[in-house]
Amino acid sequence: MSLPQPTVLGLKPSFGFGDRLGLATPGHLDAARQGHLAPIFAQQSIREMSRTERTPDEVMTAAQAALRDEGFAEPWGADADHLKTREDVVRMTEAGFTFFTIDPSAQVENQADRLSGPALAEAAQTAVGEHAFASLDEACDLYLDQAFDLADDLSLEFTEEALLRAVVKYGRAVAYSAQMGQWIAEANGDRPHEIEVSVDETDSPTSVLEHLFVGLELRRRGVPVVSLAPRFIGEFEKGIDYKGDLAAFEAELKRHVAVARHCGPYKISVHSGSDKFAIYPAIGRVCGDLLHVKTAGTSYLEALRVLARKAPARFREVVAFCRGRYGTDRATYHVSGRVEDLRDPASLSPSECEAEYLDDPGGRQVMHVTFGSVLTQGRSPDGRPFKDALLDTLRADPALHREIIAAHLGKHVRLLCGG
Ligand SMILES: [Zn+2]
Repeated sequence: MSLPQPTVLGLKPSFGFGDRLGLATPGHLDAARQGHLAPIFAQQSIREMSRTERTPDEVMTAAQAALRDEGFAEPWGADADHLKTREDVVRMTEAGFTFFTIDPSAQVENQADRLSGPALAEAAQTAVGEHAFASLDEACDLYLDQAFDLADDLSLEFTEEALLRAVVKYGRAVAYSAQMGQWIAEANGDRPHEIEVSVDETDSPTSVLEHLFVGLELRRRGVPVVSLAPRFIGEFEKGIDYKGDLAAFEAELKRHVAVARHCGPYKISVHSGSDKFAIYPAIGRVCGDLLHVKTAGTSYLEALRVLARKAPARFREVVAFCRGRYGTDRATYHVSGRVEDLRDPASLSPSECEAEYLDDPGGRQVMHVTFGSVLTQGRSPDGRPFKDALLDTLRADPALHREIIAAHLGKHVRLLCGG
């Protein structure tokens, strides 16, 4: 039987089920059935693949084989996440991915927030010179002295200072996104494909006005975005719930959705979307159909839960290893958990150990950011790689793995779908 192929999902509301181990799709399928969000079953960033030493083909065929075995015949997508170079684009296209997430964060000038006066003007000149615009006058003609009416109660205007700051902060990023968009188009030819632009991994939140600038620039430069990921206000830490003012988040999200409707329409993409239970109802309500959510690490954590229950001694070894790696591995992640606040696994019963490291927010983060080390370097004292032990445990009880993943991701889907 031939393998099911991913396709484009367009403006259908959608949900990304990242799977770092290649065994989570059956559980993801059961979770997807609990709501109306179109599923993306293969979703992996370049960073995740290098950390897990998996290839784009492995990621794709793991999802395809599971979907074939389940007889799944509905549309599904495959997200080549956080692409930064032409080489990334080519590799992921060859593996059959259909959804291309451009990550221009290296081109975002975070310093812009701290510039003003002559320094800001000079930085804007430099950004313009690097092909962000034909000239600064062009940018002023496009954006100054007019109101952008986005909704009944939302009209935005650029001051000169705000425009210069947007040009400095995002000018190169939109120019690079247009270049990436061309590479994606070239690599795909006639193959259906769709594009997201993500600026979620920047130092500061994306203001609504900055989002408007990015959205309008992408449109002007002909980048056909199906979704855009701003960096939202509040804290989107890995693997745990949202931290911040819920009412302020919802009000700001409404404005972002108005921008997305005006510039696209395109979907608002919520990255680091795992475990943000407190804001899912608002996200589902406010975004409506213009919604995409990405999750990844949470499915890995729930796979560890299977290990905690079926092989508690092995799980304790993994925990001890992660405690040692956390200080190093947390560097590229947004987390606040502290190893010092967590009890030594040797002093805990199996159920206490599971609760401390897979339910407690700090423990979840310690286990979350260390996945690459666990899967490529971690070994038991007897020399057995942790990855082999984990995969064997999951394969020995696929029903339990499926049930745990379906329950946890299903909760995500139900809350987003208003249930
Ligand atoms: Zn992201």
